[in-house]
This record gives sequence, structure tokens and C-alpha cells, in this order.
Amino acid sequence: MVDGKPGPGNAAPAKKAATGAFTPAGVSPNRRARRSYTIRLWSVRHSRFLEWFYNRFASAFLVLHPLWKKLGYNRVEKPVTFVERNVKGLLFDCRMCGQCVLSSTGMSCPMNCPKQLRNGPCGGVRANGHCEVEPDMPCVWVQAWAGSRNMTNGDAILKVQKPVNQSLRETSSWLRVTAEAAAARDTLSKDAKA
Ligand code: SF4
Repeated sequence: MVDGKPGPGNAAPAKKAATGAFTPAGVSPNRRARRSYTIRLWSVRHSRFLEWFYNRFASAFLVLHPLWKKLGYNRVEKPVTFVERNVKGLLFDCRMCGQCVLSSTGMSCPMNCPKQLRNGPCGGVRANGHCEVEPDMPCVWVQAWAGSRNMTNGDAILKVQKPVNQSLRETSSWLRVTAEAAAARDTLSKDAKA
């Protein structure tokens, strides 16, 4: 409600999504029903392959750390974020929270939960495994558990996740993970030399 009048609903979904508020995927109920979350569910079914692929991808990104450093992490942020948004948007309906936990959630993005829960489902999962808020959507946490059971490191789902840091929204997880891994590696080699 705005000044006693009904709010705009999903009239400006892109604007609303940018604030971090939940917007139903695809917005139009017809479009949502038509796509049936096909690709998102495919990703969960192929979580083991995607886990394997991501591990190799992350290693390759780490090998490229000297290049990112030379170019400047800040300068590559924009193009890398663009690629990350589109690739993960297609595969996982990624909402660019900037702190990716797909490796710990069976390749099911928890930011698609209307309540944006990062540590398991609420008490409202329907008997058919769908969401109580979006009845046509399979609960992302039911999917996360199923996906995690296929993964080598699937028990990572039991790790408690920190609350979302909203200041990282719309930034690249790929670059952050790479920079952190490179810093940890440098510290380790310094300690070994000392
Ligand atoms: S956890 Fe965050 S970065 Fe990862 S797919 Fe979901 S919204 Fe995107």
C-alpha cells in the first residue's frame, strides 16, 4: 500500500529486483507456467556434473589471477559480472546476490525462495514439494536437498550460511572467490617460507 492505494505489485520488476526484493521468476504467471522451471531443475538433476565443472572452472580462474591482478579486479568486475549474470541466470535463475552458495545447495539457488532463506526450507512446503508462496514453483530447498545428494561434497548443505550481505549484490562471486583463494594461497606460501 502506498498512501492508502494498492502498491505497484510487479509492475516494475527490474526496479524491484534491484532493491533485493523477491520478484517471481519471469514475472508473468503464464510465462512462468510455460517455462516450468525446466533449466533450473535440469541443473539440479545434473548437480554432480556442474560441481565437477565448477571446480575446474574455479581452478582456471585462479590460474588467471595474475592477469586479473594486472588488469585490475575493479576494471574486470563489470564484464565478468555481465557474463556471470547471463550464464547463471540461464542455468540457475541467479539473482546476483554476490555470495554464491550453489556448491553448498545442490545447484539450487536459495535466492529464488520468496523468503530468501539461506539455511533450509520454511515450514510451508506443500505436500507435493512446491512452495507455499508460489504454488507452481518447486521449493528451492527440496530441490537443494535432492541436488546435494548427487554431489561429491553434498554434505556442505549442512553448513550454516551467514545472512546475505546486501552490499555485495550485483557483484561477481567468481572474482571474489578467486581473489580470496589467491590471497589464502599467498598467505600459505609466505608462512611456509617463514
Ligand atoms: S546464490 Fe547468489 S550468486 Fe549464486 S546463483 Fe543464487 S543469487 Fe546467484
